Amino acid sequence: MRKVFNFNAGPAMLAEEVLDQAQKEMLDWHGTGMSIMELGHRGAEFKEVTDQAESDLRELMTIPDHYQVLFLPGGATAQFAMVPINLMAANKHADYIDTGIWSKKAIDEAKRYGDVNIAARLVVEDELVSIPSQDTWSLNPHASYVHFTPNETIDGVEFHKLPETNGVPLVADMSSNILSRPINVSDYGIIYAGAQKNIGQAGITVIIIRDDLVRDPLPGMPTLYSYPLHVAQKSFYNTPPVYAWYIAGLTFAWMKRQGGVKHFAEVNQRKSEKLYRFIDEHKEFYINSIHPSCRSRMNVPFNIVNKNLIDSFLNEAAESGLTNLRGHRLSGGIRASMYNAMPEIGVDALINFMREFAKKNG
Ligand SMILES: *Cc1c(COP(=O)(O)O)cnc(C)c1O
Repeated sequence: MRKVFNFNAGPAMLAEEVLDQAQKEMLDWHGTGMSIMELGHRGAEFKEVTDQAESDLRELMTIPDHYQVLFLPGGATAQFAMVPINLMAANKHADYIDTGIWSKKAIDEAKRYGDVNIAARLVVEDELVSIPSQDTWSLNPHASYVHFTPNETIDGVEFHKLPETNGVPLVADMSSNILSRPINVSDYGIIYAGAQKNIGQAGITVIIIRDDLVRDPLPGMPTLYSYPLHVAQKSFYNTPPVYAWYIAGLTFAWMKRQGGVKHFAEVNQRKSEKLYRFIDEHKEFYINSIHPSCRSRMNVPFNIVNKNLIDSFLNEAAESGLTNLRGHRLSGGIRASMYNAMPEIGVDALINFMREFAKKNG
């Protein structure tokens, strides 16, 4: 076992089995005498890797046949532009739900290509942040799509109920909670997710797109920002990030061996429940200001009532093998990110540390 539990928000902890396998295969992938990084991306060997990755992801998420799966570089940030460039060609109006820092980045990018209506924003009631109930949203029935961020990685806000859009395609930036619980892919028009949180290493982005949304982008845009091009070329228009794709594939295979998304959903529920319960039971010392109806199971931001203790909390946690707990530079405080690769014993260790720290400093 490794020496630390890494609570970083992304790039994030990877499963030890995945890293072990990558290490074993590093110098000689499947008897070729070469690393997977050195094989031609158009060769039969690499095709084996990408075909398997796609078929494992399709199985894990039960992706219907009328959805295409793309593996592209550029991160989720490239999708902030690709979505409006590809979906705003016919109608330059889109609805966005603003639930935090990542939503805002997506909104700012979309505004370059068309009219953006912010249909809903986070509200604060009794000092608790929450997602406003859907009957207060101002959705445009003629929007070309509705974009939302199912899990706000920095703010620690997660949707536990699917937005209802009355047939308008729903686009989800699922970067930080894809594969963390079963979803019904047919509820979405497009799902996209950068890999470095719940899938693998930075450098590759998964895009799941319904066939009817693969249509001509706005004119004059960069060639690489076209969904139809990448669908036609099966993500091989130019040289793909081969190693990131390979690591994603190893992670999908590992997830299947562990029992698939259902298994991880159960563990993720338990991990987050026990951490929130502990924080709530120690309100005189720790605070979390997200309403229980929309608390993230993946990223738990919290604070210490006495803010002067934060630095010693972070230093002592690191000395105890609990690393990267510092909150995002924009929000401060503490944040525990616990994606699929974070084992339950890592969260138990964090809670034990928090209990001791509060006892000593309370
Ligand atoms: C991390 C993250 C991003 C940004 O991903 P990049 O790969 O850095 O482009 C976007 N959205 C969400 C929800 C994220 O968690």
